Amino acid sequence: MSSQAIGNTQVYSGIGVGDGSAWGKAFVLAARPKTPSDAKSNLGSDAEKQRLVEAIAFVSQSLRVSASSAEETTAEIIGALLSLVEDPALIEEAQVHLADGWNAETSVTRAMNSFTELLAGDDLFAERIADLKDLALRVVAKLTGQDMSFTLPKVGPIVVIAEDLSPAETALFTDAVVGVITSGGGPTSHTAIICRQRNIPALVAVKNALEIPQGSGVVVDAFKGEAFLAKEAPGVTNSNRRVRTGSPIAEVKGNVGSVADAKALATTEASGIGLMRTEMLFLSRSSAPTLKEQTELYAGVLRAAPAGEIIFRTLDAGSDKPLPYLGIGNEENPSLGVRGFRINDVDASILDTQLKALKQAEEETGRSVSVMAPMISTLEEAKEFAQMARAHGLNTVGVMVETPSICVLLPDLVGVVDFVSIGTNDLSQYLFAADRQNSGVAKLLNPWQPGLLKMIARVCEDAKLASIKVGVCGEAAADPLLAIVLAGLGVHSVSMASPAVEKVMDYLCSISIDQAKAVAQAALKGRTPLEAKELALAELPS
Ligand code: PEP
Ligand code: MG
Repeated sequence: MSSQAIGNTQVYSGIGVGDGSAWGKAFVLAARPKTPSDAKSNLGSDAEKQRLVEAIAFVSQSLRVSASSAEETTAEIIGALLSLVEDPALIEEAQVHLADGWNAETSVTRAMNSFTELLAGDDLFAERIADLKDLALRVVAKLTGQDMSFTLPKVGPIVVIAEDLSPAETALFTDAVVGVITSGGGPTSHTAIICRQRNIPALVAVKNALEIPQGSGVVVDAFKGEAFLAKEAPGVTNSNRRVRTGSPIAEVKGNVGSVADAKALATTEASGIGLMRTEMLFLSRSSAPTLKEQTELYAGVLRAAPAGEIIFRTLDAGSDKPLPYLGIGNEENPSLGVRGFRINDVDASILDTQLKALKQAEEETGRSVSVMAPMISTLEEAKEFAQMARAHGLNTVGVMVETPSICVLLPDLVGVVDFVSIGTNDLSQYLFAADRQNSGVAKLLNPWQPGLLKMIARVCEDAKLASIKVGVCGEAAADPLLAIVLAGLGVHSVSMASPAVEKVMDYLCSISIDQAKAVAQAALKGRTPLEAKELALAELPS
């Protein structure tokens, strides 16, 4: 997505996050330092180790200085970064590469990469990955004499413009930041998620964002997915709030990945969990977690979760989240490889233990467990999973809708599953053949894409005929206007991370189901993402 001139005005387009607009002075962060190409050392491994130790000490000292003047939450986030950069495992891992003759820059980058590879490919770990990448860059910046530090002006309004933003950087935002524009990222990137949570209108994947002149007045229109230069603030609206008039027209649930997340969710109005990602327990280890470890975690989540149905998703690892103990070799196209339920073909004991643990957790806590499998693309897979789950005594069984093939198989799922849950992050990736991590194709991943909306409409119609309940647990459900469209299409429940629950709840409590159906039908007439959004908004009762 790029900039174009309309009349005399330069328009920068990207994916809008949120539904408001804002005006502020551009605060452009310098392009991130580039990681130098891999290089062997001329200095010898001892000297390289010394350089690395000094660079790490510098980064940790500058983080300490930032933490000392930061408010509490920011200080906590910086504290987490400090523990990562000061972890002796970092030097230990880098040492392996130093001993092979690589210089400090290459060794630290390789060490960080080996940590991020363990977590890659899942939004759940996006923040940790972004933190690790940010730290690697800070160390490399020091080693190569580049400066990555910045201080945001305390007085706004400012629009922060950057290549992308790390969690540590967004943690520095004060109320002076009214808008954000990034050249990288996509609709499910860290920046998009944080800006949605903090109600900051944002544009991501704006190719020429860094061309916006420092200090110029700029309007960010998240609804239209556009930004343009304007000396003064035109009439801009901040995100609209809606008044609740009744109960929600679809259930609002939460997405979690740990007991701590479930506790945080219990402080919101969410009814139950729409997606418990079980991956966390399986990563960064040399063997699969035991039955006892899994049972404890699942029981902990069940005890902490708010009232309502709790849906656990079975392991969604493999491919780009490689678990060495799974025995899946290197893959050329990992996102099209052995991931999710496909792991069952390699090692059926993983799923067997997981289902056993879920049943035991159900019995221990007395709270019912619903269970679903990721990456299902055929009727046989759905049947095999449902049979396994029911054989373990789990009674409410579903599959995720993340591949185009399962979208057209709903009529065949009658009597096989009780519910389906649409994972819009992966469904967009596979429907549009667009890598969800690649900001170069982010416009195809816009959740308002007519192709996606029409596919969801079809799934809902077929599911209704088959008496199968439909949920949406991808990031699309966190967009409040889109949540209304989804409810109007026949989705029974939407789920999202805790901070987004309240606003979605406001929207779904502000409208009748018949009105939502009209909004959904209007959106389906759109021929572009923007048109779909505009038509939906025009139909939305005030
Ligand atoms: C999805 O694909 O939309 C989803 C919810 O699963 P994940 O983001 O964990 O792949
Ligand atoms: Mg997915």
